[in-house]
Amino acid sequence: MPDVLTYLPHIYARPNLPKLDRFYQKAVLVWIPEFLFPELQAVPCPGCGGKGAPDGWNPKGPRRVFMEHDVAYVMGFRYKCAKCAEFNEGKQEAEKRKTSFNAWDAGCLRRLPEYMSKEFHFLLTKRSGIEICMVDRLADDLVHGKGFSAAAKNIRQAHTTKFMVDQLKYTSLVNTRRTSSGIFRSANLAKIPERFGSFDDSTKYGGAVPSEHYLRDVWRLYFSKLPVLEVDSVD
Ligand SMILES: [Zn+2]
Repeated sequence: MPDVLTYLPHIYARPNLPKLDRFYQKAVLVWIPEFLFPELQAVPCPGCGGKGAPDGWNPKGPRRVFMEHDVAYVMGFRYKCAKCAEFNEGKQEAEKRKTSFNAWDAGCLRRLPEYMSKEFHFLLTKRSGIEICMVDRLADDLVHGKGFSAAAKNIRQAHTTKFMVDQLKYTSLVNTRRTSSGIFRSANLAKIPERFGSFDDSTKYGGAVPSEHYLRDVWRLYFSKLPVLEVDSVD
């Protein structure tokens, strides 16, 4: 994940009024395992393990995922499997295999060695996703008697705190550029600074938090995917 420090010096280096878009930037994870791990010749097809051939970016675009303090976006390629396409020839509709997939599909991740698959830190839901460490924290919250509603509230608090701090940094920077001495001061004073906007304005900050209902669904999804520990002769 890109760290905030990778772009901060750039914002502060400009002598004129700061542009707001830098303050709205979200982290983007580009999940293309064969680029991240050059030793991987091709992404394995979930259905047959054959070589997946990249077929352009996923047409649905980047997927929004919930992180601890903000949202981020995950994007990647679609892949096609020639073996499964060959298998489908002349078959009935019901017998046909899926011939295209994503590198984050559970079946594909399962076929990758763990040092690769564990670099994908998200549990994806139908339309969005959530960072696995937040689901782990949810487990801890539930064990300690906190419900989904309290967990959702904690996440909301962390996200709104980040939003408030970002807004504070922006207004402080604007005020400094308009009041401190320098050749741009009068020009900066004459301009009307852009407003930061609200937390959930999708054209600006674009904040979003998972609902209590969403966390409950994620919890069920996560536990249905955990491997079952089979132990013989337990008293
Ligand atoms: Zn296949």
